[in-house]
Parts: sequence; C-alpha cells; structure tokens
Amino acid sequence: MNYVSTRCDSIKISASQAITKGISDEGGLFVPETIPSLSLNDIEKLSALDYVGRAKSVLSLFLTDFTKEEIDSCVEGAYATGSFSSKDVAPLVNLDDGINILELWRGPTCAFKDMALQILPRFMTVSAAKTAKGTKIIILVATSGDTGKAALEGFKDVENTGILVFYPNDGVSPMQKLQMCTQEGANVGVCAIEGNFDDAQNGVKNIFTSKQAAEKLAENNMAFSSANSINWGRLVPQIVYYISAYCDMFRSGKIALGDKVNFVVPTGNFGNILAAYYAKEMGVPVNKLICASNKNSVLTDFLTTGTYDRNRDFYTTISPSMDILISSNLERLLYSASSSEKVNEWMKSLKETGRYTVDADTFGYISSAFAAGFCDDDMTKATINKLFKEQNYLCDTHTAVGVKVYYDYREQTGDTTPTVIASTANPFKFSKAVLEAVQGDTGNLDEFAMVERLAEVTGKECPAPLANLRNKEVRFTSVCKKDIPSMEKVIFDMLGI
Ligand SMILES: *Cc1c(COP(=O)(O)O)cnc(C)c1O
Repeated sequence: MNYVSTRCDSIKISASQAITKGISDEGGLFVPETIPSLSLNDIEKLSALDYVGRAKSVLSLFLTDFTKEEIDSCVEGAYATGSFSSKDVAPLVNLDDGINILELWRGPTCAFKDMALQILPRFMTVSAAKTAKGTKIIILVATSGDTGKAALEGFKDVENTGILVFYPNDGVSPMQKLQMCTQEGANVGVCAIEGNFDDAQNGVKNIFTSKQAAEKLAENNMAFSSANSINWGRLVPQIVYYISAYCDMFRSGKIALGDKVNFVVPTGNFGNILAAYYAKEMGVPVNKLICASNKNSVLTDFLTTGTYDRNRDFYTTISPSMDILISSNLERLLYSASSSEKVNEWMKSLKETGRYTVDADTFGYISSAFAAGFCDDDMTKATINKLFKEQNYLCDTHTAVGVKVYYDYREQTGDTTPTVIASTANPFKFSKAVLEAVQGDTGNLDEFAMVERLAEVTGKECPAPLANLRNKEVRFTSVCKKDIPSMEKVIFDMLGI
C-alpha cells in the first residue's frame, strides 16, 4: 500500500518512508492511498483474539512493507511486555446508563498517547533501517502535555534516535510538567516555550519543513521526524483500539455483530477521533462519531457550520491537552472528503486569514459522519462529580468533557445507539481539578498532598508512575522564546551541531 500527501497526491511513498519522514516536504500529511476493508466476518475473527492479536492483524493491513516478523516484534514489544497495567491493554468498562468507557490510559505515562507512543519508536527503528540506514533520527515534539511525556518514555535510549520536546510553559498541569522535567535517558531533551500549544506546534512544523535546518542535520548524518499525530505511525495504532472496542462490545453481548455503535472522543488535535473515522471507513459499523471539545470550541463550530475560524480567544482550561485552536489532523479528514486541490486552498486560507469555509458537498459528507459539542470547566467538574457519586467511576477532566457532550447529544437527538466513550487520561494526572470536582475547595494543598487526598476521598489508587515522581530529580528547567530562531538554537545546542 502507498501513502500520498494531503497536499500533493502525486507523491507516493511506502509506509516506512511515511513514518521516517513524519510530514511531507510541502507541508502535507501522509494518508493511505486506499483504506483497507474489514468484513463482519473479519471482525468476528478479530473478536476471538486478544489485543496483541488484533493489533498484529490490523497493522499488517496498513504497514505492507513491514515483514510479519517485524510487525509481530513491534506489537509484542509495545503491548505484551507488561508496560500496560491491564492485560487487555485498552479495557472496555461497561457502566450503567448505557455508557461504555474505553480506558486508553493504562500505559506507563497514564494517558492515551502511550497506545501509540509505546509502538511508534519500534516502527521508527524498523522504518529507518529500511529507508535511511545509518541516519540518526531526531524526533521533535510539540506537546499540550501528554504527548511529550509519552514520546520521551517511548524513545528514551532507543538507539540512533534523539528526542526534544517543547511544551507551553503555562499550559500544562503540574503533574504533566513534573513528568517531563524528570525524564531519564541519555538521548532526551525538554524545553518550555513562552507561548501556547499552537505556538509550539507551529514552530516545530516550520522547523521540520525548513530546508536550511534539514541541510544542517544532513551534514551531520541526522534527519528530523515527528512523534506528533501528524506522523502516520502515531495514528495507525490508534485505529486498532476502536476496532478492538467494537469486538469487546460484541463479545460482552452489548451488541450483535453488525449493530452500530457511537464513538465519543474528547478532542484536541483531531488525531484520536480521526483514528475512529478510519475504523469506520474500514467497515466497523458506526452510527456517529461524536467530537467533544472544551471551551476552545473551534471544532464544534466547524463540524456544525462548515467554517473553521481560529480568530478567537484562546482559553486555558482544566482539560489542557485539548486547549488547541489549530487541529492539524482535520486536514486528513478534509482530504478524505474532497481533494488535494481543495485542501491546498483551505490550508492557504487558514494560514493567511485564520479561517476557511468548505464547500457544500464536503460539509454534507462530514456532517453525516460527525456530531459535535463542547462544555466548559464548571460542567466538566459537575460531570466528574455525577459519574463518581452515581456510578463510583472516577474519570479525568478530558474524559468528563466527552461524557458531558454525550449526555447533551443523547438528550438533543434521542439517539440511543450503544456508545463507547474514549477515556484519555487517568484522573490522578489532573488531581487538583478532579479533587475540586468531588469535594469542592482544595485549599492550599501541594500537588502530592492533593493526590493523597484524592485517593482518600475516592478510595481509588494513584498509579505508581505518578506517585513515584515525588522522589525524582528535576533534570530540565530551560525556557525559550516562541520564535523559530530561538527554538532552533535549543535544538542545535542539544544536538551539539
Ligand atoms: C492528547 C489528548 C487529547 C486530545 O487528543 P487529540 O488526538 O489531540 O484530539 C485528549 N485527552 C487527553 C488526555 C490527551 O492527552
């Protein structure tokens, strides 16, 4: 199978080239030329397998230039060596009230990003050996909090790679910051920027596509790649868990084979929900994909009007991993719904004016597949409280946005299709907001006192990787300005070039 760029579909490359490069030279994103399909019979067969078996099967449809042995070793290394705290890897928890929670945060950094970032470094090593032998791959990451840590943990001490993470100085939770700044490993770097996530992402994208920077790296036998969801290798492992969730709904008797489900996804950069869209395109019976946003509701507006407009206030919320106004992966959906000519036109307009409006056909296609909604911080907290009090289920702030948007959707539409809600982080990653939600004021407790209080009040346990941060040494404290030369200097200094 070949991969094409969303901005130039005459570029055709292999899966391993797409993974090694991360982003296309003209700024487009790589997408599969055709989406492989799954019949109900295939889905029934997948249902009999465990997560590892399902992953091997699905990934081999997309990574066609990987050998069976290579896929097996990537999948087993990522999901079968005990780095996930559930043997199901991504367990589906059936609650009352017709809600099924897909827990995607059982990995080592307690957010759903581990689902992809435990396997991406393995894909990268295999891909680089095929396409760029001997070149050291330098992973640049812009993070709204969770990708950074998950990528650091995935790439630490991986041979022939280096990784540098930029995060918004005032835009991540204390726990997220501590997770990154205490990162171990000889090939890692972390730097805060004086700006928000969009600034970090823009800077990283610009540096990626800068010819000069690429030449400088090439002289030193290095090349950039990406661990953000602009990299196809990040998205493809995410398709697996939607298929797996459907299999689990079937196996647990919640649905019959062929029945439709809704997927609700708390969304920022549109990567996670796009993976659900690809699962639907492959043949998983889906009624609606429900895109849930926080107060930064740019996607709700787009999905309900057809106009994307980033000219608006940026809000810092208690679901910081979704504080984003430029959702990169939407470009892949637009390509799927239209053509590379149109994508170019809209992306040019986005760059020049901050907005674009899609044509009626494209909008019709998108709005038949997606529903959308958003909720503010107060509603988020009220939802955490309700779910805990009524069902003894403690969820994090991002997941709560999904739950609230789903309740609203169900009330407005009367749609009672069985529904799976993606749970994207462990609640202890956002202890302050979650504690406020369940018990009101938290006073002046420090982060770890809050973690302890949250455990006491709820009877739930803080995952060891978070609890252990308390005793770890802080290794990274630098902050840089958000302009490109400042960010480049940080990168070149770290690489010693
Ligand atoms: C990254 C993240 C999101 C948003 O996912 P996208 O793929 O960027 O839409 C939601 N919740 C949490 C906890 C995250 O870390």
